[in-house]
Amino acid sequence: MKCGKPVPEMEEYCVDCKERKREFCQGRGVFLYNMQMKNSLLRYKYYGSREYGRYYAEEIFRHVGTQIKHWKPDVLVPVPMTRRKKRIRGFNQAEDLAEKIGELLQIPVAAGLAVKKKETKSQKKLNAAERMGNLKDAFVITESVQGLKILIVDDVYTTGSTIETLAGCLKESGAGEIYFVTLCIGQL
Ligand SMILES: [Zn+2]
Repeated sequence: MKCGKPVPEMEEYCVDCKERKREFCQGRGVFLYNMQMKNSLLRYKYYGSREYGRYYAEEIFRHVGTQIKHWKPDVLVPVPMTRRKKRIRGFNQAEDLAEKIGELLQIPVAAGLAVKKKETKSQKKLNAAERMGNLKDAFVITESVQGLKILIVDDVYTTGSTIETLAGCLKESGAGEIYFVTLCIGQL
């Protein structure tokens, strides 16, 4: 009901959403983050299969386009990466997805609205609290977001720490309701 993670029958919320208050109102991911999707994203992000972006965006549009329209976001904000990392990778996958989804939905994309100022340690080996601390102060909001309804876009949602932290920063800067959409979503 909240982050969109698959939960056992008769359950409405995943363990994480049950345990603590979320900064975002609601979010959805399209594919389960399984081995096939991990490999697909590896090819897209690191091995030159940039054309996958079109398919990913179309699938997001097909499966959750109606839901996104229902949320009525004013703007799409991709999860930023540092300039250094973007230079090394050649592109920011969240930005690529946001631009393509924005085109399909006719919603503007504000790629420079949130920037990532410092590199954070890999999140993989950290627990939820450590992840949030790791990310705190990494994001900077560069423009007025007063009252804006924002849809955060990213490739993967697992614990939600990244999106939670960015949503918190946006709200501190005065944003209204925050939603998110990701290509993949983790399983419990
Ligand atoms: Zn949840």
